[in-house]
Amino acid sequence: MDTYNASDLPFPGNPVVPQMFDGGKVMRFQCHKGIACWNACCSNIDISLTPYDILRLKHRFEMSSGAFLQKYTVPYEMEQDSIAGVKLRPIANGTACQFMTAEGCSVYEDRPTACRYYPVALLSMRRQDEYTDRDSYALVKEEHCLGHNEPRQITIDEYRKEQGVVEYDELARGWRQLILKKKSSGPSVGKPSRRSRELFFMACYDLDRFRSFVVSEGFGELYDLNTKETIEILGDDTLLMLFGFRFLKQVLYGENTIPLKKHAADKRLKHYHERMQHMEREAAEKRAAELDGMYGDAND
Ligand code: SF4
Ligand code: SF4
Repeated sequence: MDTYNASDLPFPGNPVVPQMFDGGKVMRFQCHKGIACWNACCSNIDISLTPYDILRLKHRFEMSSGAFLQKYTVPYEMEQDSIAGVKLRPIANGTACQFMTAEGCSVYEDRPTACRYYPVALLSMRRQDEYTDRDSYALVKEEHCLGHNEPRQITIDEYRKEQGVVEYDELARGWRQLILKKKSSGPSVGKPSRRSRELFFMACYDLDRFRSFVVSEGFGELYDLNTKETIEILGDDTLLMLFGFRFLKQVLYGENTIPLKKHAADKRLKHYHERMQHMEREAAEKRAAELDGMYGDAND
């Protein structure tokens, strides 16, 4: 079991640090039709969606990402980090999931990651002294959920496989890394610009709009993608989504993930040098003002 500081955990304001487990943790749990609490968990939802969750559901309904987002989701901001997130929209004037039926989940094969994980919570995090993110898990025990009283014992790793969550996690890794990077950069980096937030929303959640963006003239003038790669990305939503994460690493964090056309690369280098010079000038001016203050005080 790992221990973390409260400040490392994605539960802001919650003074209780949950127990963190690795995948080998054995839990007692089984959910099945006929259990007395059947559908209780889907009657009062708070389900955040990953980009891959949206992709699967929009395919299921054969909808565009824009139409799906409008009908089935609500946007929100993840904590105070100003990162755009998307949640499932409950039924009108209620708290139940729109996909809940008396028989159970009507989108079961494409249900979102959070539904697959329940009653386990995935906690991706990065310690300040680490360069890579690591996954830990917490167990969620809610009074209404009677699955914890069932006799079956299963490890978290086995449960993840059983629930088909491994593929979902793999395909959401790039998105989680983007969020972790923002969280670990802390408030010093400040609130991202409106433009960055819009790009993040589009590339992560509104895939069909992102596709139009990638085929736009402006994109082609800036990025040096070869024709084969472009055709592959545009013809496959999953590849397009993964490309979106690469794109965001470049535009939000300055990583060189997509080659730029020569004139764009030169312009970017020039902009970088200008910024460095500006920062050095500012630091020198600040230092001079501090020294002025010190000697000024001493001379008084
Ligand atoms: S998507 Fe399915 S499992 Fe998830 S809350 Fe809705 S009905 Fe329940
Ligand atoms: S056992 Fe838990 S997960 Fe299963 S239906 Fe009941 S409340 Fe939902």
